[in-house]
Amino acid sequence: MKAVDDKKGHTHQQVTVRVLGQQGGVPYEVERTLCGECQEIISERPLRRAAA
Ligand SMILES: [Zn+2]
Repeated sequence: MKAVDDKKGHTHQQVTVRVLGQQGGVPYEVERTLCGECQEIISERPLRRAAA
């Protein structure tokens, strides 16, 4: 999958990282895909709930 950003004029270098977030006091894990070049978040999807 390619995501070209016309404004920045480059093809996003997709990097997938897992981050720990918190929503309503509940910790959860998110798989975040961002561009390693411009750091723009391309997509985010929640994973299973993290163990406390
Ligand atoms: Zn980019």
